[in-house]
Amino acid sequence: MSEQQQKIDLVNLARSLFERGYSVGGAGNISLRLSGNRFLVTPTGSSLGRLKAEDLSVLDSDGNLLEGKKPSKESVFHLAMYQRNPACNAIVHLHSTYLTALSCLDNLDPSNAINAFTPYYVMRVGKLPVIPYYRPGSPEIARELSERALDGKAFLLANHGVVVCGSDLFDAVDNTEELEETAKLMFLLKGQNVRYLTDDEVNDLKNRGK
Ligand SMILES: [Zn+2]
Repeated sequence: MSEQQQKIDLVNLARSLFERGYSVGGAGNISLRLSGNRFLVTPTGSSLGRLKAEDLSVLDSDGNLLEGKKPSKESVFHLAMYQRNPACNAIVHLHSTYLTALSCLDNLDPSNAINAFTPYYVMRVGKLPVIPYYRPGSPEIARELSERALDGKAFLLANHGVVVCGSDLFDAVDNTEELEETAKLMFLLKGQNVRYLTDDEVNDLKNRGK
């Protein structure tokens, strides 16, 4: 796939997420791994609904700007995750409503904020480790995500939002949508007697893959 096509895909997927209410204002950022140890990242202060292919930031692995506008200040943690996890080729970071609401709850299990109650969550994401609260853009977020990048595909940033990896951009977006839907169901089910999947059921899904 050409680099121009990758830029167009990013712009179109970002707009689709924005139009369906997954992000508002200038919140959220998306990136993908290009060839030659370079990375495409959404620019700072940009709305996911109004990106332009020519404005997207191209960075090297040290975060130096090679093309486009100044990158999101959160690009630091995107680069840290790519460096640590070679299977991660795209990252979606959102402050989407239900996952951000979840991230504001106290006493979340740091190893997994959502226990499995649908097979789709298990097949797409599996678990949701929690990164403690740090100021957005803080190097501490990048450090923690780098240390835990191999613990899962998605991470909840306390009092902030979610970070989701994928094998490519489409996979990362699909994983994000499934995860937001799972968080929404979790709130709908709050206070009700939920039947969680058993360990055997979860292992059966993991062994079969998608
Ligand atoms: Zn953020």
